[in-house]
Amino acid sequence: MATGKPYLSPGLPIPVAEPDGLSQPYWEGLRQGRLLVQRCKACQGWQWGPEWICHRCRSFDLDWVEVAGKGRIYSWERVWHPVHPALKDHGPYVVVLVELPAADNVRMIGNLLGDPHQAVSIGASVAVAFEHHADADPPFTLAHWRLA
Ligand SMILES: [Zn+2]
Repeated sequence: MATGKPYLSPGLPIPVAEPDGLSQPYWEGLRQGRLLVQRCKACQGWQWGPEWICHRCRSFDLDWVEVAGKGRIYSWERVWHPVHPALKDHGPYVVVLVELPAADNVRMIGNLLGDPHQAVSIGASVAVAFEHHADADPPFTLAHWRLA
């Protein structure tokens, strides 16, 4: 599912892959509305965030696999302090740490859409929501979360 207007204020830095391209498949996947997670071809282990080497077996043979955009809130925080000048008049907003059962419960950070004052429960089911910025230079997409 895609979001409507941007969750956070305009003026934040545009997320791009590192110069070495490590996370490039992740960002390209988001642009296509797909959530990709690294998986080791040697031991089948999942991992997040992106790395050049498998944490389990030290193989360099890693793949990017699309996973269902469904997860559970593992932890969360309501952010009041503006961590960037563009957020000066924005707060609060809710950041969630989401575990993905489809990928051996690797955990991803994201924003929780909806009322920034909403009650948040550990373990609540969430679904990914893609926020496309097609007119940005370069274009990018963010993966947010909403209660399922
Ligand atoms: Zn491995």
